[in-house]
Amino acid sequence: MAEVLVLAEHAGGEVKKVTCELLTAARRLGEPAVVWAGPGADEGRDRLAEFGAARVYVADSPEFAGYVVAPTAELLSSLAAEKSPAAVLVAGTLAGKEIAGRLAVKTESGVLTDAIDVSAGPDGTPVATHANFGGAITVHSTVAKGTPIIAVRPNAISAEPSPGLAEIVPVSVSVSDAARAATITEHVVAGKSQRPDLTEASIVVSGGRGTGSAEGFAIIEKLADALGAAVGASRAVTDAGWYPHQFQVGQTGKTVSPQLYVAAGISGAIQHRAGMQTSKTIIAINKDPEAPIFEIADLGIIGDLFKVIPQLLDQIAKHKQG
Ligand SMILES: Cc1cc2nc3c(=O)[nH]c(=O)nc-3n(C[C@H](O)[C@H](O)[C@H](O)COP(=O)(O)OP(=O)(O)OC[C@H]3O[C@@H](n4cnc5c(N)ncnc54)[C@H](O)[C@@H]3O)c2cc1C
Repeated sequence: MAEVLVLAEHAGGEVKKVTCELLTAARRLGEPAVVWAGPGADEGRDRLAEFGAARVYVADSPEFAGYVVAPTAELLSSLAAEKSPAAVLVAGTLAGKEIAGRLAVKTESGVLTDAIDVSAGPDGTPVATHANFGGAITVHSTVAKGTPIIAVRPNAISAEPSPGLAEIVPVSVSVSDAARAATITEHVVAGKSQRPDLTEASIVVSGGRGTGSAEGFAIIEKLADALGAAVGASRAVTDAGWYPHQFQVGQTGKTVSPQLYVAAGISGAIQHRAGMQTSKTIIAINKDPEAPIFEIADLGIIGDLFKVIPQLLDQIAKHKQG
């Protein structure tokens, strides 16, 4: 069975959730082999094994920690030439997409970005699925040339465990001078909030224009904290400056796929839905019974969020006490 190379996203030895999603997709196409650039593979190995990695190609030389994406693209290009994989899967993050583009040029292959699913076609060819125009049109694509390089959106595919050996295979690659042109001079750790990361959280509570103001939006944070959830926002809220842009959910924001998504005061525009419609359970609170969000909600509460949420908070507090 042909290998499918999966570029691991990791930090401090911790495997990012998207890597488990990529491994799940890779298993549909062939034998998943992780490519790990930089330190920490030993710490991450168990998690990779849990999601079916057959082996882990580890390139742990200073180039991969000290430079931006170019050395990783060279590493993948060299492995692609050596292993002739059925496909190369990377996370559809900013870095992942840049690596995918560079790799496509180096290997003269086709690249498919923003995939929300990956499957094997009737003849085994990797097929990527894309949700275009905010999810209104679904497109299936294949590459016409070379090794398919597919950048998959984080949170689009559910990660499913399936045991693998995750055999560590050290690899060395000579990185060109050109790839060392841009160095990382400093790592600044973003101030961590007490809340879970928006794209990794199992519960997300999002607020929209219905919150009325930055002060009004605070009720969304209260509900999120009562549920141990991450906070999200519609673009109307972030554009108005009521909440920072990094929390925007949707086509031009983050894609989330939690177990529970609570949308309060959000109309459910197609561009918002594009970032949350794969959530497992959706609860909508909106005073307009015609709001489009109710079309995709599992539970819809028609009412003023400033009356509904305090009642919810009371119930959650009682539940916690009792
Ligand atoms: C290219 C492009 C990209 C975009 N990308 C994104 C994106 O990534 N994410 C995104 O969110 N949007 C995006 N948008 C904007 C999108 O089209 C909508 O304008 C936006 O999602 C609307 O946000 P909203 O639902 O908060 O506001 P509105 O559409 O104004 O809806 C507010 C809702 O709150 C309800 N409401 C009001 N008061 C209350 C109350 N007291 N209690 C309960 N309900 C109340 C109203 O009934 C209404 O349904 C994009 C648009 C374009 C053109």
